[in-house]
Amino acid sequence: MYNPKSLKAEEFISHEEVLDTLEYAEKNKDNLELIDSIIAKAKERKGLSHREASVLLACENKEKIEEMYALAEQIKKDFYGNRIVMFAPLYLSNYCVNGCVYCPYHLKNKHIERKKLTQEEVAREVIALQDMGHKRLAIEAGEDPVNNPIEYIIDCIKTIYSIKHKNGAIRRVNVNIAATTVENYRKLKEAEIGTYILFQETYHKESYEQLHPTGPKHDYAYHTEAMDRAMEGGIDDVGLGVLFGLELYKYEFAALLMHAEHLEAVHGVGPHTISVPRIKHADDIDPSAFDNSISDDIFAKICALIRISVPYTGMIISTRESQEVREKVIRLGVSQISGASRTSVGGYCEKERPHDTEQFDVSDQRTLDEVVRWLMEIGYIPSFCTACYREGRTGDRFMSLCKSGQIQNCCHPNALMTLKEFMMDYASEETRAIGEPLIEKELETIPKENVRFVAKENIRNIENGKRDFRF
Ligand code: SAM
Repeated sequence: MYNPKSLKAEEFISHEEVLDTLEYAEKNKDNLELIDSIIAKAKERKGLSHREASVLLACENKEKIEEMYALAEQIKKDFYGNRIVMFAPLYLSNYCVNGCVYCPYHLKNKHIERKKLTQEEVAREVIALQDMGHKRLAIEAGEDPVNNPIEYIIDCIKTIYSIKHKNGAIRRVNVNIAATTVENYRKLKEAEIGTYILFQETYHKESYEQLHPTGPKHDYAYHTEAMDRAMEGGIDDVGLGVLFGLELYKYEFAALLMHAEHLEAVHGVGPHTISVPRIKHADDIDPSAFDNSISDDIFAKICALIRISVPYTGMIISTRESQEVREKVIRLGVSQISGASRTSVGGYCEKERPHDTEQFDVSDQRTLDEVVRWLMEIGYIPSFCTACYREGRTGDRFMSLCKSGQIQNCCHPNALMTLKEFMMDYASEETRAIGEPLIEKELETIPKENVRFVAKENIRNIENGKRDFRF
């Protein structure tokens, strides 16, 4: 029985409800009257239910799909402006006791080198990341209670926050580690993490169990209920995600939105972010062995529909995707991207991209400077701001900020100031030549006069080497 308020995975992600939804969507995929009414509802910018969104996903009418894309673009602009938040993953350890069949870190993979960073190595990686200009990290680790216990993760977070190299600082550490206990989530909260991210991989229970044949991750309910435990532990920003390619995308899409609805129904706050990874080649992993891979067009449609279904949820795209795909989906709703990522343990300290401990192949291999320049060239403002979290603008408070239209007076100046820092400290001449005039131009778009005045003042201070503010 389907019950979005239940705390039981099989009730809030009810298999029957997903199947009914897919049947309903299939039956109505040519029902233009219904489709028009759903698009009209989406235009109110309050989101869509999983049933409504699934009808749009099933719809193959080109004209209607164009309408959906145009709406996604508009909502993206209205809610997130032209800002794109930047981050990088930091792999701490690839020791893992799970048997995930799509991941090279699985226990039975004996030819991948196992590595775990010492605190000195964490510090070296952080310095390398700071030297690129990163301020926000997502830490990643395999699941291994002996090698990667929660104490190790907490020590790493402390090390990361403690490193202040030149003008650098990591101001926000998001955490992507395996499902854990309320007590451990509380420890992560105390360590001042940003978002707790956990990909569901697949919502389809039977497939989930086959894809995770051994190890603690095999337990579907424990994994699927993790976000409820995280919220119980005090973490109010959680990040969902599906690994597209494992199961039928229509199933995953409906269930992903059901998960978001569940969090909203139980905790009063939906997910802070949704990630949309697709399976990639890796050591011991052949993506063609998974027969549910989706085309770039379907991928774009999913991104656009996530944007209009959960307008207040940020969307993340990693370097698994190429520059071309990233450009397409940034327009349709993605608000956060990684840059210059290394998916190997200790990879940032290596001159060449190392492949020995890589979790997956990276498609977008550009430097952070190149990614920043590219974003500006295609009309975006790369933002290194992390202020929202620190100022308590998370969850429902972020939502009210969005609704009141205050984002232009708040996020935009912060984005410009952090971009200015990047220009001063890390950008190449070529990037600065584009960035400096862009920042001056964008300053003039801040609507409130007093806010604009303070932002300009801060920019001049950064130029003069004064850094007495934190974002
Ligand atoms: N071990 C933790 C867990 O179980 O959630 C941390 C996550 S892992 C380091 C990050 C994510 O990478 C996984 O959740 C999975 O979705 C994704 N991943 C694993 N293998 C992949 C592959 N071959 N291609 C693309 N993404 C992959």
